[in-house]
Amino acid sequence: MIPLSSIPLKTESWQQQLGNAYCHIRELLADLALSEHYSPEMELAAEAFHFQVPRYFAALMKKGDIHDPLLLQVLPRAAELQHRTGFTLDPLGDQDAHEGNGILHKYHARVLLITTGACAINCRYCFRRHFPYASHQARKSQWQPALQHLRQDSAIHEVILSGGDPLSLGNTRLQFLVEALEKIPHIQRLRIHTRLPVVLPSRIDQPLVEILGNTTLATSMVMHANHPRELTAEMRQALYPLRRAGITLLNQSVLLKGVNNSAPTQVRLCESLYSMGILPYYLHQLDQVQGAAHFAVDDQAALDLHKSMERQLPGYLLPRLVRETAGARSKQTLLRSQNQ
Ligand SMILES: *Cc1c(COP(=O)(O)O)cnc(C)c1O
Ligand code: SF4
Repeated sequence: MIPLSSIPLKTESWQQQLGNAYCHIRELLADLALSEHYSPEMELAAEAFHFQVPRYFAALMKKGDIHDPLLLQVLPRAAELQHRTGFTLDPLGDQDAHEGNGILHKYHARVLLITTGACAINCRYCFRRHFPYASHQARKSQWQPALQHLRQDSAIHEVILSGGDPLSLGNTRLQFLVEALEKIPHIQRLRIHTRLPVVLPSRIDQPLVEILGNTTLATSMVMHANHPRELTAEMRQALYPLRRAGITLLNQSVLLKGVNNSAPTQVRLCESLYSMGILPYYLHQLDQVQGAAHFAVDDQAALDLHKSMERQLPGYLLPRLVRETAGARSKQTLLRSQNQ
């Protein structure tokens, strides 16, 4: 484990903790006693997509283990530099679905609002690692046109705050957005897709709980935990007030080779999530984004793994195994081919 001196003091605000995140690969490797694994290709990979890891999350990694499943999610590797056929810059066609002002409208009755490009952590497999946030996010100045767009389309019933990570916005901005959304009569549901409760639980502060607890919108938060070791006592404690405030807590994870592609790990993940009041929602097949091919698990292996989970878990703890497909009107459930 990481020396105590590098664990953030409890008194640091979440903003300070974000500012103190690891942004040098050498420093993280040194703190994990893994310096001998450093290579210049790691820096090249980080040029394409920055390296950033909150110290809280790094402290959960096992010292001396280059195969640690938490480390593998964030460590830039030479493999990212290899191009693989089928792995592209915009695998989900997000740029085609972009309606302007940060709104992605692909699915019936619900829209994604890209509120910020900032994330607390940079996950190497991220499907948005090449997303041109600069031109596609709703910066604060564009929120009015984005809200205007939402007001004008009464077929929209749910707004999903996405990013980047919407919880990297401050509470004042979030409050402004939530209050503006609840004034739009046809919008009934608010959803927040975020990895912050997992990688920096201190982000769930009292003002945030109040904003989400007080809104008249039916509110859910979809976190993103991939491995049972990401679920800590701190996270449990941070989420408790949200549960009490009536927020629905869900999780989506990404199936990642070397990280969580085993049935025992997935079963433990689902059971631990539920012990914190979180329901497993989706298990995603990796989006085929350039630089992430080394994480891919083939469909047959994914289906076998899911079958094994199905045998071991109650139905309500079994996430749906899905893939996102460019242009499709919903996520696609993975199915066995007919002859199997
Ligand atoms: C995943 C996603 C949603 C939400 O889909 P649900 O099935 O409702 O969780 C909405 N819009 C886009 C573009 C998405 O990728
Ligand atoms: S937190 Fe989510 S959006 Fe941000 S890098 Fe990780 S997977 Fe991508």
